[in-house]
Amino acid sequence: MGTRHYPMAEPAFVGNERNYVLDCIDSSWVSSIGKYIEMFEAGLADVTGSKHAIACMNGTVALHLAMLANNIGPGDEVIVPSLTYVATANAVAYCGARPVFADVDPDSWTLDAEDVVRHITPRTKGIIAVHLFGHPCDMGRIKAIAHQHGLFVVEDAAEAIGAEYLGRPVGSLGDIGMFSFFGNKIITTGEGGAVTLNDDALSRHIRMLKGQGMDPDRRYWFPIIGYNYRMTNIQAAIGYAQLEKFEWHVAQRIRVANSYYSFLKDYANLFRLPVQKSWAKNVYWMYNVILTPNVVSARDDVIRDLAGRGVETRPMFYPMHTLPPYQHLQPNDNFPVSTEVGARGITLPTYSSLTTEDVEYIATQVIQACLE
Ligand SMILES: *Cc1c(COP(=O)(O)O)cnc(C)c1O
Repeated sequence: MGTRHYPMAEPAFVGNERNYVLDCIDSSWVSSIGKYIEMFEAGLADVTGSKHAIACMNGTVALHLAMLANNIGPGDEVIVPSLTYVATANAVAYCGARPVFADVDPDSWTLDAEDVVRHITPRTKGIIAVHLFGHPCDMGRIKAIAHQHGLFVVEDAAEAIGAEYLGRPVGSLGDIGMFSFFGNKIITTGEGGAVTLNDDALSRHIRMLKGQGMDPDRRYWFPIIGYNYRMTNIQAAIGYAQLEKFEWHVAQRIRVANSYYSFLKDYANLFRLPVQKSWAKNVYWMYNVILTPNVVSARDDVIRDLAGRGVETRPMFYPMHTLPPYQHLQPNDNFPVSTEVGARGITLPTYSSLTTEDVEYIATQVIQACLE
């Protein structure tokens, strides 16, 4: 004891990753053309219940493509949750448009539909619904609001592949969905992302935007200004191997979360824990605890104390309305839930190789750090 070290995250390569990567090198298909791209995209379309899946460099550019596909530009507003990873807001800003923040639900920590309504203006074009930490948004409510006001819905499902709303997979519920395959996500390609959707014309347009704007029917003819946002065959080879074990990867997150719950549930005096709404399948990308006011130590002191115990943790996302690029935007708004959860939340190590015994050890350290 005392020599243990738990990182925040660790990818799991338990399938054909090595074989497929070697196949790319041996066959010399290492760039953005190759069979694994097509296989990965087909597999993704399948697990996300979407007609089209378009692989790209990372989740951030997937969000950017989703904004470009909706013609977002200067003067437009897009509503995003204040509690999210910064890429959600940045994708709106890349287009010269303005992210407008709304607060989140106190239990699921996902977009509060009533607060979305409060932030709609004549300039609002759409909503980015973030399925935070693997819990789906209340998509029924959000889509009803969007429909009523003529807005698009993009799902930021970066953290939530495999999650479901009323039995339907995220990424297929809005107008466009997106995923991230960064090293700490539920499945990884190292860096990687994808856009999912059902609309044929929009899919074709997004493929053009991702590939320098090249006309799919006329090589080296560029009717629009596009980007080089392509994924490599090597990334897709890793991703395809991960998809072959998709159910396993998702099941591990749920197992680790259930295990944390069993060791922490009797400490309601110290922590609020993640939930799963009746209509939701939560895939628990990362497990969080929210410290109650009974914990007298400051949150960051608890994080430091845990680091000394060999347990790497991190602060919950700082809400967008507190970050320097965005803090001046809505001076008269307050975001009580994002502020509270952001200030008192701690994200715990969550990955497939954690055993029940590991989780018990980490949970015990977290409890002790909070009792000091
Ligand atoms: C990881 C993440 C992204 C961005 O994905 P990258 O692949 O890191 O660019 C976007 N949104 C959320 C909510 C994320 O967690």
